[in-house]
Amino acid sequence: MIEKLKGKPALTDCPCGGGTYIKCCQRFISGAEVPKNALELMRSRYTAFVLQDEKYLRDSWFPDTLPEEPITGEDGVKWIGLQIVKHVHVAAADQATVEFVARFKVSGRAHRLHEISNFVRQADAAGVVRWFYVDGSFPDQ
Ligand SMILES: [Zn+2]
Repeated sequence: MIEKLKGKPALTDCPCGGGTYIKCCQRFISGAEVPKNALELMRSRYTAFVLQDEKYLRDSWFPDTLPEEPITGEDGVKWIGLQIVKHVHVAAADQATVEFVARFKVSGRAHRLHEISNFVRQADAAGVVRWFYVDGSFPDQ
């Protein structure tokens, strides 16, 4: 999938399943646009995981909860698909949650990640108001 995206991004499907890559997550990952809600950020972060885009993942992570170690560090993880379960936006608090199931394979074995991610909207270092991933909880654990 990554090879395909590098070849003809305009014609290929976005890894997150939201349409063509150029109309879906590319504009966010390229920095041309800022996601306007937590759902768009969630989708683009999933796509960044598929593309192993460490910088995008770090830049969209809330500074106070950003881990020091690399986010995309695990070798051999093949992301298969993203399913959005629920998006809740608490406008008064500039907060949101996105519940999702992401499927992936490691050494040919299928796994699923069921997470409720927390997002917050605030100004970044450059003063641009945008959404950030804060942390997540795992309802199946
Ligand atoms: Zn997408």
